[in-house]
Amino acid sequence: MTQHTGTLYIISAPSGAGKSSLVKALTDADPEIRVSVSHTTRAMRPGEVDGVNYHFVTREEFVKMGEHGDFLERAEVFGNFYGTSQSRLQQTLDEGHDLILEIDWQGAEQVRKLMPQARSIFILPPSLQALHQRLTNRGQDSDEIIDGRMREAVSEMSHYVDYDYLIINDDFAHALDDLKAIFRANQLQQKRQQVRFGKLLAELLG
Ligand code: 5GP
Repeated sequence: MTQHTGTLYIISAPSGAGKSSLVKALTDADPEIRVSVSHTTRAMRPGEVDGVNYHFVTREEFVKMGEHGDFLERAEVFGNFYGTSQSRLQQTLDEGHDLILEIDWQGAEQVRKLMPQARSIFILPPSLQALHQRLTNRGQDSDEIIDGRMREAVSEMSHYVDYDYLIINDDFAHALDDLKAIFRANQLQQKRQQVRFGKLLAELLG
């Protein structure tokens, strides 16, 4: 039987490259594309909503979930724990939805091993200056945190070579077009189209 399975996407970027805004614009344009909501032990930022941006949990809860084998992958970033819960992940893909994991390079490495069919996308800022500007404009973090994030960003960016696709987020609309093109091309794969247009194909071929 032909399976109508969505594609699993890993999207990584240094903090401030505009990853979350791009992913939001992509899923607003195509609600069939789903985004996995991670668990984290970091503090909620102003404007964030529990269960929407992340599932915010305590360290104890996170460790317990790990012991129960609830995570597909997990990593420590900036001293906080982050993890992708296994629940509903396969089901979402089996329902035919593309699913995005917005995770760091450490998580990406783990997912590639477990699910080699996953496609991975890395998003880069157009310059270090632009990255610094974006981190400052957020107005949420102190200079010390921003400097730390800049150092982390350079280290995160060195992993772009392990990804299938690379997008430079200079102009937002252009970067969004690039992102859409990747998803569109995958959706048009013959095997997926065969399932989607099974009836038409049967009619055309008699
Ligand atoms: P932030 O705290 O700024 O939302 O995210 C910090 C970093 O953690 C980003 O690089 C983000 O992609 C990564 N991250 C968020 N959720 C997960 C997750 O579930 N697993 C892993 N490995 N990284 C994550």
